[in-house]
Amino acid sequence: MSKRDYYEILGLQKNAGDDEIKKAYRKQAIKFHPDKNPGDKEAEEKFREATEAYEILKDSKKRAQYDQFGHAAFESGGAGGFGGFGGFSGGAGFDISDALRAFMSDFGGDSFFGDLFGSGGRRTRRRAGGRPGNDLQVRLTLKLEEILSGVSKTMKIKRKEKCETCGGTGSRSGKKSTCQQCNGAGRVQRVSNSFLGQVIQESVCPICHGEGAIVSDPCSTCGGDGLNSTQTKVSVDIPVGVAEGNYISIPGKGDGGPHGGPNGDLIVLIHEEKHPIFERHGIDIYCEIEITFSEAALGKTETIPTLDGKVNLKIPPGTQSEKIFRLRGKGLPVLRGGQFGDLLVKVHVKTPEKLSREQRELFEKLAETEGSSTSFFEKAKGFFS
Ligand SMILES: [Zn+2]
Ligand SMILES: [Zn+2]
Repeated sequence: MSKRDYYEILGLQKNAGDDEIKKAYRKQAIKFHPDKNPGDKEAEEKFREATEAYEILKDSKKRAQYDQFGHAAFESGGAGGFGGFGGFSGGAGFDISDALRAFMSDFGGDSFFGDLFGSGGRRTRRRAGGRPGNDLQVRLTLKLEEILSGVSKTMKIKRKEKCETCGGTGSRSGKKSTCQQCNGAGRVQRVSNSFLGQVIQESVCPICHGEGAIVSDPCSTCGGDGLNSTQTKVSVDIPVGVAEGNYISIPGKGDGGPHGGPNGDLIVLIHEEKHPIFERHGIDIYCEIEITFSEAALGKTETIPTLDGKVNLKIPPGTQSEKIFRLRGKGLPVLRGGQFGDLLVKVHVKTPEKLSREQRELFEKLAETEGSSTSFFEKAKGFFS
């Protein structure tokens, strides 16, 4: 039986780089992996063949041998005199279990495979009853008024729910077959050699994601994972005092788990809508108002909006521009209530830009009564001289 050329198997040119070789193999391995093609002997052979080719070409020494002597390099007593390599004696000795083992040691810890073989991939959190679904995130925009009072919100979310056709098993017949990669254990070992000696790492099987079994006759409605996308409404009670970046976790409202596994969680991320008047500083809120010269001089009672209705602010006579008044308890509550922050009101005294004739005369009269404003410089003179 003549063996196919390793480069040809992987669809590569003779001068392919290491990255290209890896990529080409990865593509074939995913396509032909026995767990993706249950019972398909042809696919199994292609997987085995591609893995054998990769095991040679990824190793520069073996690749050089192969380039020089071809397959003869690895046949016992062959021209290269190389004998066996990497635990298998080349040629006919490399069977499907060698291929599965090699695949695992090359890619067992590769999250890339985890993602390609199914959604969810590499979750470490394990709960009873199989692999849990993905956690979902939604952003919920709230007004400061809602943060003050607390609010109940209903959100529309897209999530994966148990497939009705197959009851969430993902299988048409309801049966599953044992995962060949891990022999049903759900976990695989990866042996590597380091300067400390042999290191054995155990990880979740990337093919069955720890379930130990795979679906060999996928349900046509859900495609085999036992889940379908739906839109659903979820209500959430928002406690008072939340802030931008806070999140609320709603257990069990995330995606359903594949093959009947438990649901993930729904994470509601709080986003604060910008308020037209108020700025938030922790639990205090802040705003600015404008008053006129005469109001600053004579004082007045100003009606100030707050997050829950209006209050009166007494501006005393002689108020300077940029003065900040503090209205106690008119801010936001601490998270889940209790203590309240304050409302800070900065008063800006507005200088009139246009004066009517009458106003002008009044200002002039006023000016005569005020004396000179140079007094500041008079005082400063003593300082500078
Ligand atoms: Zn497995
Ligand atoms: Zn289904």
